[in-house]
Amino acid sequence: MAAKDVQHQQSPLHILFFPFLGPGHLIPMADMAALFASRGVRCTILTTPVNAGIIRSAVDRANDALRGADCPAIDISVVPFPDVGLPPGVENGMALASQDDRDKFYQAVTQLREPFDRFLADSRPDAVVSDSFFYWSADAAAEHGVPRLAFLGSSMFARSCSDSMLRNNPVEAAPEDPDALVSLPGLPHRVELRRRQMLDPAKRPDHWAMFQRINAADQRSFGEVINSFHALEPAYVEHYQTTLGRRAWLVGPVALASKDKAGRGTSAPSPDADTCIRWLDTKQPGSVVYVSFGSMTSFSPAELHELARGLDLSGKNFVWVVGRAGIPDSSEWMPEGFAELMARGDRGFMVRGWAPQMLILNHPALGGFVTHCGWNSTLEAVSAGVPMVTWPRYADQFYNEKLVVEVLKVGVSIGAKDYASSVEAHEVIAGEVVAESIGRLMGGSEEGVAIRMKAKDLGAEARRAVENGGSSYNDVGRLIDELMARRSHAKVGEGISHT
Ligand code: UDP
Repeated sequence: MAAKDVQHQQSPLHILFFPFLGPGHLIPMADMAALFASRGVRCTILTTPVNAGIIRSAVDRANDALRGADCPAIDISVVPFPDVGLPPGVENGMALASQDDRDKFYQAVTQLREPFDRFLADSRPDAVVSDSFFYWSADAAAEHGVPRLAFLGSSMFARSCSDSMLRNNPVEAAPEDPDALVSLPGLPHRVELRRRQMLDPAKRPDHWAMFQRINAADQRSFGEVINSFHALEPAYVEHYQTTLGRRAWLVGPVALASKDKAGRGTSAPSPDADTCIRWLDTKQPGSVVYVSFGSMTSFSPAELHELARGLDLSGKNFVWVVGRAGIPDSSEWMPEGFAELMARGDRGFMVRGWAPQMLILNHPALGGFVTHCGWNSTLEAVSAGVPMVTWPRYADQFYNEKLVVEVLKVGVSIGAKDYASSVEAHEVIAGEVVAESIGRLMGGSEEGVAIRMKAKDLGAEARRAVENGGSSYNDVGRLIDELMARRSHAKVGEGISHT
């Protein structure tokens, strides 16, 4: 073997992480890179300037810790955002204001294939973890002989539901009634959603075709890395791996690897962040409900009005993140008396801008979380032992609600009915329902007590999974070993089969 090849065999494994351009994808990928780097893997994250800003502080904090542990630092490889006519600085899903912007954005996303190809050709990493939304990256990686691990950032439960949906298209055969119950066949539990809670392939053939492409590309890949842990959804791990025959490594909750609980996921934390934590410090344990809907979800003025009424009616302390750009002016939605309630400062705290979600969820004052069921938020709540009021809107969120409420029994459903990203499409949920759901979760009923106890137990299981010897710790080790073994079997300099 030539000296160069010996050197390559002895160098640390090198994994390229290539996240989709949105906080819900960038954040867990950066956490995952920190996790693999802490196990001695050299990690590079490929992204564009604004998106690099979102993960910069998480990567810097991780690198501080890695330096102390004598592990290779994480590198961010920044490539220009393709010029497709979007205004400067508009580089991710959060900043898109119109359909025209969205179309241009997806054009730019496709053009990222060029810098991805270039990185693979120049740096020849041992593996790539690329976002499932970059379905074309499966073929690109194959052309370069690099094994591709897909990452969608969903639960095993949601992946299984989605597979059943794509295989069987049960919506097509269901009655036209939007409230008709539709079963997803072939799953370990009976899973039923209302027709209007599901993606309708006839109405959104473009989305349906995209999910088919994603699913096919993920199946052609070396395998998938999943932000979950075995004890959370064992029946679905078994279903996915054995019944569906898909290779998956469960490495989460990756948020537990984050060294940046305060500034995670933003280049500009909310100016209210520190005051919010100090406000929580003054509250009794378990007395505060946290209300936040992730980075992408919007509510209409009528919905915000009822949510505000509901928080007031609930009688509970609350922290409400009303942060996203584009939120209607408070004069359009604030109910009478709400500004005065906020001004009193004893019951409620509003965060404008990006909240330190990990610090809030892990604060002893937290007693519940009203969430849109984005998978990152859901798993962060699970890891913190915090029960949830579930308020899904679209994507995998209705599946995550099923998992939280019906399978894990760590939440109460608010009764959201409509699968839609546009705010107008959602039926308004009355303030009384919001208050009642929070009361069921945080009050003294047998149901509330059982949910809270289960949530605490799951939080402990989550932390165990990532500790030395835990299931996720072991899955990371197994994946590293497999990629290392593959490297030593491959003859350097020859064409290598990618799977
Ligand atoms: N997040 C945060 N502060 C905010 C809003 C969101 O830290 O003010 C983080 C949250 O902790 C999670 C991610 O952003 O890690 C949102 O991901 P999720 O999958 O929950 O929802 P999405 O934004 O993708 O809909």
